[in-house]
Amino acid sequence: MRARDGTSLVPVSDVICQILSGELDAAVVARDDQVIAFLDHRPVFKGHVLVAPTPHVDTLLALPGDLMVPLLTMTQRIAAALVAALGAQGTFVAVNNVVSQSIPHLHVHVVPRTKGDGLRGFFWPRTHYAAGEIERYAKQISEALPDASQHPAQIIRREGLDPGRDS
Ligand SMILES: [Zn+2]
Repeated sequence: MRARDGTSLVPVSDVICQILSGELDAAVVARDDQVIAFLDHRPVFKGHVLVAPTPHVDTLLALPGDLMVPLLTMTQRIAAALVAALGAQGTFVAVNNVVSQSIPHLHVHVVPRTKGDGLRGFFWPRTHYAAGEIERYAKQISEALPDASQHPAQIIRREGLDPGRDS
């Protein structure tokens, strides 16, 4: 296993590393030096694919820059293939980090979607911001980003726009 920032040299025993080492069976749909894509054995819908980097990476936060494009490129190719192969109208693409992350090895879910497939309600309950709260959240998150001074939080208000503009 290669040494990389954010990756592990220690042998790990998660399901994805076991598939990569041949210890576990998997229905692999694509694989290269950097990324593997295989079917989730307990799919939300049949054709649900997991896309993962082949070096062990815990979460999206630990993903080295040189694996970002390969991971997202494979994700994009799988999303297109689900539409082409299964007649899906679209896909749902998601990454769980730590919470609800069943395998402690970064993986992108690519789930085939079709209008009326019943996934509505699968997701988290929605909440509302109290008055003034959304501005505070925007500021807090913006200030936690690197180079925070380069991109201060900005609240865009419709009142400031020409209401007649329609693009
Ligand atoms: Zn792993």
